[in-house]
Amino acid sequence: MLTQIEGIHHITSMARDARRTDRFITETLGLRRVKKTVNFDAPDVYHLYYANGTGQPGTVMTYFPFPDIVAGKRGVGEVGATVYAVPKGSLDFWARRFEESGVGGLVRETRFGDARLRFDGADGDGFALVEAESDAREPWSGGGIADDAAIRGFHSASLVLRDRGGTEALLSLMGYRPLAEENGILRMRRGGGNGADLIDLETHADAPSARQGAGSVHHIAFAVADDAAQLAAREALTAEGFQITPVIDRDYFHSIYFRAPGGVLFEIATNEPGFANDEDMAHLGEALKLPRQHAHLRSRLEASLPKIGG
Ligand code: ZN
Repeated sequence: MLTQIEGIHHITSMARDARRTDRFITETLGLRRVKKTVNFDAPDVYHLYYANGTGQPGTVMTYFPFPDIVAGKRGVGEVGATVYAVPKGSLDFWARRFEESGVGGLVRETRFGDARLRFDGADGDGFALVEAESDAREPWSGGGIADDAAIRGFHSASLVLRDRGGTEALLSLMGYRPLAEENGILRMRRGGGNGADLIDLETHADAPSARQGAGSVHHIAFAVADDAAQLAAREALTAEGFQITPVIDRDYFHSIYFRAPGGVLFEIATNEPGFANDEDMAHLGEALKLPRQHAHLRSRLEASLPKIGG
């Protein structure tokens, strides 16, 4: 069993409109944009990162806005819901805020004894807020939302699967343990992690496969401390027969990727070096940052990418 995984590191989704997505995440959800860069593999589009004030792993939502992308279609083989932790008693505030802003898909429910509010992101992305008992993670104070309601970071993610067996076995190998089961949803937990400790496995045996597009999660990344921990994880997963990419330098973390049984793309990302790697912590996410390999594209990209705030 791997002991290196510390919980969720980041979740990356696709969007159609960079400006609309940016407004939704920074204004409606009150998160901090901690990096404005480009998709390293497709530099004509942004890669936008949103998190708590410090860009702590376990709080980081990222977007690839592709202007011409079709809408995603929900189904099996993907992350169905990205769930944020908020303080106890704050869901009434959030429900009012979302109603006033015209946010869609609002559903109050209880899962594993916790009050939740489901809502749709800018492209119908599956999101939820859940009231968490205590959460030591610092919220971003610059988002206009009081500390007694502000988002703390990820609570969990739900993976929607036709058959959960292979993914359950993989998560067990990654150090997750079954915590509870309710209505056919298995909750698994990685104890002692970064706070983003939970993964829910939802089985829908007869549902169609998801079609990725705007509003779909592209991949979910799990956190490890550093390169050594990542290498150990890579070796252990390779020994189990998983096809893992080489280590790829994403400037703010180092990444490996592999496809989980059931279809969800997994990444394992290092906590180092973090988002202050190429700009001052006080000004994260304001200027367009480009990786060395795309620096020569700056004037073209500054002209072609849509302007977003900051
Ligand atoms: Zn990623």
